[in-house]
Amino acid sequence: MNLQIDSQRLDSELQELAAFSETPSPAITRIVFSEQDVAARAWLKQKCASAGLSIREDAAGNTFARWQGTDANSASVGTGSHIDAIPNAGRFDGTVGVLGGLEAIRALQASGFAPKRSIELILFTSEEPTRFGIGCLGSRLLSGVLKPERAKTFKDREGNSLEDLRRSAGFTGDLDRVKLHPGRYSAFVELHIEQGPRLEAQNQEIGIVTSIAAPAGLRVSITGSGGHAGAVLMRERKDAFVGAAEMAIAVEAAALRTGSADSVATTGICSVFPGAVNSVPSHVKLEIDVRDSDLARRDAMVTVITEECKAIAGRRHLEVDLETVNSDAPAACDPAIVSLITNACQQLGLTHTKMVSRAYHDSLFMSHIAPTSMIFIPCHLGISHRPDEFASLRDITNGVTVLAHTLAALASQ
Ligand SMILES: [Zn+2]
Repeated sequence: MNLQIDSQRLDSELQELAAFSETPSPAITRIVFSEQDVAARAWLKQKCASAGLSIREDAAGNTFARWQGTDANSASVGTGSHIDAIPNAGRFDGTVGVLGGLEAIRALQASGFAPKRSIELILFTSEEPTRFGIGCLGSRLLSGVLKPERAKTFKDREGNSLEDLRRSAGFTGDLDRVKLHPGRYSAFVELHIEQGPRLEAQNQEIGIVTSIAAPAGLRVSITGSGGHAGAVLMRERKDAFVGAAEMAIAVEAAALRTGSADSVATTGICSVFPGAVNSVPSHVKLEIDVRDSDLARRDAMVTVITEECKAIAGRRHLEVDLETVNSDAPAACDPAIVSLITNACQQLGLTHTKMVSRAYHDSLFMSHIAPTSMIFIPCHLGISHRPDEFASLRDITNGVTVLAHTLAALASQ
C-alpha cells in the first residue's frame, strides 16, 4: 500500500493545537475541562468532522471519531491518545497520537482503502493526573478499572467536583454508562513519543511496545508535633519532616535493592506544614510513585516501602497513615499486533526495536478490554513534560505511516 502522509498539514495542526494553552509558547498548559481544553476539543471535532468521521462523546468526555467500515457488525479498531497537558509541558505528548491518528485515517481514505472493520480515533479524557490526582481518568472508566461511584467523589484542588466540571464542559450523561463492553474493539494501537532517550540513543526510528510498566501510587501522611524552632529542644522533638526525609531515602533504597533496572520509585510531592522557617514541621504529606514491568516485584517494593515508613515513624514517635491511591497491573502487549507493527516497519524499511514502556498511557487500561500495543517514536534527549520537548517531523511522519499500515491490517482482519 502506497500511503501519502501529509506531513505539512500534520505539522501545522500540531502548531494550531499548541495555541490552545494557558501559558505562552513554547510552554503548553491544557488542564482537563478548562476553557482551553474545551476549545481544543471543539477545534479537533471540527477536523474529524471534515474528514467525514462521525463523533460520539461519553459522560466523561472521551471522544470517539468513527470511520465506518464495510462490516458494521464487527468489532472496531481503535487508535488515539490524549490532548491534556500538565502545567508547562511540551506540544508532542499525546497530541502526536491524536492528530497522527487522524492523519493516518486521512491517508488511508485518500489511498482508496475501504476498511472492513470501522476505525475509531479516541481522545481520552484527562490522561494527566493534574486536576484530579489520578492519571488516565477516561480510559480507567472506559475499561471499568475505575468504578463510576469512586469517580463521582473526585474533586480538584479548588473543591470543584468532577461531576460539576464535566457537566459544565458539556458532558452531561451518566458516568455509569461510560464503561465499554469487552469486544467493542478488536484491537487498540496508540502512537506516542517515547518520553525517554533510548530510541534516539540507539538510532532507531520506531519502538514497538511489548509491555507497559504500571504504577502504584501511595499517599503518606505523617504527623508529629510542631513548635517554636528556638524553644523546642532537639531531644523533645517529633519533627514530621525529618521522618518524611528518612522515608524518601527508604523509597529510593527499595527500588535500588531489587537489582532490576525496571524498578523505579519516586517521592515526587512533599508538602510541609506549617512551612515556616522558624517552626518545627508538625505535619507532612508525601506522594510516592512506584513502578515496574513485573507486578510481583512492584508489589514487593510497595510492601517494603510501607513497612519502612511504619518503622521510621515508630522510631521517631510519629503517626503515619498510608493510603494506596492506585495500584495498577502492568500490561503485556498483544503479540499479534506487535508482529503487525514489526511487519509494517520492515516493509517501510524503518529501523525498529522492541521495548518496555516505562511511562504508562491510556493503552495500559485499554489492554483490559482489547488486544493492545503501542508505537513509539524518538523524543529528543528523552525530554518530556517540558516546553523543550521535541520530536522531529520526520520521526512523527514515520510513526504515522507505521500506524496507518497497522490500522489497515487490523481493519482488514
Ligand atoms: Zn502522554
